[in-house]
Amino acid sequence: MIEEEMDFENRIVSPEYNFHDEDNEITLRPKTLAEYIGQDKVKENLSIYIKAAKQRKESLDHVLLYGPPGLGKTTLSGIIAHEMGVNLRVTSGPAIEKQGDLVAILTSLNEGDVLFIDEIHRLSRNVEEILYPAMEDFSLDIILGKGPSARSIRLDVPHFTLVGATTRSGQLTAPLRDRFGVLFRLELYTPEQLGEIVRRSAGILGIEMDRDGSLEIASRSRGTPRIANRLLKRVRDIAQVEYDGKVTEKVAQAALARFEIDELGLDDFDRKMLQVMIRNYNGGPVGLETLAAAVGEEAVTIEDVYEPYLMQIGFLTRTPRGRCVTPLAYEHLGIRNDGVQQSIL
Ligand code: ADP
Repeated sequence: MIEEEMDFENRIVSPEYNFHDEDNEITLRPKTLAEYIGQDKVKENLSIYIKAAKQRKESLDHVLLYGPPGLGKTTLSGIIAHEMGVNLRVTSGPAIEKQGDLVAILTSLNEGDVLFIDEIHRLSRNVEEILYPAMEDFSLDIILGKGPSARSIRLDVPHFTLVGATTRSGQLTAPLRDRFGVLFRLELYTPEQLGEIVRRSAGILGIEMDRDGSLEIASRSRGTPRIANRLLKRVRDIAQVEYDGKVTEKVAQAALARFEIDELGLDDFDRKMLQVMIRNYNGGPVGLETLAAAVGEEAVTIEDVYEPYLMQIGFLTRTPRGRCVTPLAYEHLGIRNDGVQQSIL
């Protein structure tokens, strides 16, 4: 039922990349560690590792980045390349179909280059096997020919840094995970950090905005820079057409209310998911698969994309028996704990 009403592809608070983001993602991407806001622990460690590798004139150890989409994994890989003074090559797990595809990429790299593989957990087993010796010894074992005359040759590849990104490190096979020297988990951003990101982006895009306007957008961005930048652009349109162009708290509130994004950044989908859990399952526990079927969304999407934020704001908990809605969420939705709705949102 909900499936028919929802347009997941164009969900404005989806943390996943969509083609509308294209025109600003490149200009808004920080290029240096200093410009990268938040994730302080990651930045601090990374800057030490980069400095040490540069002093030794070596390539940086392979880095695995994990965390929900839109938190800055691709951006960090670009920063690593920039700070190391090398080229960046970007690809993704599903794009590398055959062993030959990966061999072609690896042999075309220059010494020290950064190879970014997004969704690295989606590499096929075959391709992964090529990656092991490449990551470990910077060499490839290639089989030439077939049958009894087949022989294997070893080919050297340049020293490179693999930066892998995944939504969950648990999805990676153990042999692949073990070959990363550095593992970083990216966290959802605080509203203050997102406010800084929004102000930085507004500066780059030439948008007039006051501090309260930036904080209003930030607090509705679900801890995710990609969403913050997207909301900024949409709010700007409304500020320009219906107001005097300046993004203030009032303008941001009016614009975001129009997109049906509430003051915590929840949209229709979040509210309906929570309501389904309350109405049909008494607030939980509900198994992930059951929930996915009930709201017409894939289980993995619920787990990687929707849940992290709902858990961060304390609306949802995970128990061994399934997901549960918390009293805070009941309160936010205006539903009494006995299931009676107090106000219609
Ligand atoms: P991911 O690869 O994790 O999906 P991206 O690196 O593509 O995320 O980031 C999405 C957008 O968010 C980028 O275009 C960038 O402008 C912005 N962004 C991400 N992290 C930061 C940050 N720490 N500071 C400023 N902007 C950021």
